[in-house]
Amino acid sequence: MLAAKALYFLDSISAYFPDAKIELCFNPKDPWQLLVAVCLSAQTTDKAVNKVTPALFEAYPSVQKFALATPEQIEPYVKTLGFFRNKAKNLVLAARKITQDFGGKIPKERALLETIPGVGPKSAAVIIANAFGMPAIAVDTHVGRVARRLGLTKNQDPSKVEADLTKLFPKERLLEAHHVFIFHGRRICHARKPNCPECPVNKKCPKIGV
Ligand code: SF4
Repeated sequence: MLAAKALYFLDSISAYFPDAKIELCFNPKDPWQLLVAVCLSAQTTDKAVNKVTPALFEAYPSVQKFALATPEQIEPYVKTLGFFRNKAKNLVLAARKITQDFGGKIPKERALLETIPGVGPKSAAVIIANAFGMPAIAVDTHVGRVARRLGLTKNQDPSKVEADLTKLFPKERLLEAHHVFIFHGRRICHARKPNCPECPVNKKCPKIGV
């Protein structure tokens, strides 16, 4: 019953946002670039990250180049972003770990990804789903909020929300659900004032907590 509702919500919101996709810019053939963009996007907008990454990737075009840099050399490229010192430090540590422990390749196993400095469970899920096409739904603030309002989970903890959504959606649609819920949360189901009259699932949404 809940799974059928979940699919209805997913189908409807997907039809409303047929172009929903990751909004971070990166070379799809280079998972390292995705990892960098995802790490930089913590506590900041994708738009702000997309402004800094072209120059950063031009100056440091590979994980090996990052590994040879110091955080102080990376900082000027990312200084417009929140927590830039910490992010620069983590990118250098991440690049060193990837070159030393994983032969310069981004691991596909989520548990290994989570051992990389700056990569938490959400970032690992974004990376394996977007870079390697593996089934995962990363739960950020938008995905969690939309899922709770739709009544698809009662949990606040992102890993529990992820487990709930993973049971409800077919695994080949988890990445789509991730993108679509983020688009929906950014454009319609806003945190403070959801635009329910414009929402494609307005009639059937239980609007939990709204
Ligand atoms: S009806 Fe309102 S609360 Fe429900 S998903 Fe749409 S915007 Fe969000």
